[in-house]
Amino acid sequence: MRVHVISDMEGVAGIVKWEQTTGGEPLYEEGRKLYTEEINAAIRGAKAAGAAEIVVMDCHGAGQGWTFNSLIHENLDPACEYVIQNEWTEYTEFLEQGCDAALFVGMHARAGTRDGVMNHTISGRDFQNLWFNDTPVGETGINAALCGTWGCPVLLVTGDEASCREGLALLGARLTTVVVKRGLGSSAARMIPPQRARELIEEGAKRALSDLSAVRPWDPGRPAEIRVEYKNTSAPDALRHRPGVERVDDRTVVSRAETWWEAWKQFYF
Ligand SMILES: [Zn+2]
Repeated sequence: MRVHVISDMEGVAGIVKWEQTTGGEPLYEEGRKLYTEEINAAIRGAKAAGAAEIVVMDCHGAGQGWTFNSLIHENLDPACEYVIQNEWTEYTEFLEQGCDAALFVGMHARAGTRDGVMNHTISGRDFQNLWFNDTPVGETGINAALCGTWGCPVLLVTGDEASCREGLALLGARLTTVVVKRGLGSSAARMIPPQRARELIEEGAKRALSDLSAVRPWDPGRPAEIRVEYKNTSAPDALRHRPGVERVDDRTVVSRAETWWEAWKQFYF
């Protein structure tokens, strides 16, 4: 069994403040330790379920050289391999080769979710709202569509209550979720301690991988339409000459193609 662990930092137990996820801040060093240990918990769970190959992909933009590079290398479980990429959704090799399941660890809710701890949709891109064929999505949806492009199902989402709710609404009730905190606002939460969160994630990963057909690979639909409402007008300005991309109002652009991946590539990179 080949398992992709796709991870973010904002949904990790103990993390509630931006200073914990921003490279160079004193609190970041603790944040990346908490992050790495949750990833290790998922790896242990995957190993216990029989995974022969586990590839971890960090999707957290921590800034500068820390972007997609927040894991503490020497603390990572030796059973995994891991990827550091330059652009979000750039690394697809493992999915293209054929991957049995994806586990999403440390997820946060999409921009505009009231009880979503550190809620946003891709830092630095100014997305206010994002839809794939009329389905509102955040980063869980983007990563799920990426996995679905190569037939890989998402079987686990861990994070705060809001991100798990978002995952269930998108992927269905048979998705395994592990809630490690409940948002009281965008930078406040009631949490369980990291030690217990790791036990639950290990157990959740193992349970999720016991039935690979519990969740179907997600395809937003064909033909595909990606609609982005930005927070301001500068990103739509920059996209105005992109083939396949249409500006439909001051702050909104639409990218259309036969498949989601084609539509994503033509506007995102
Ligand atoms: Zn992040």
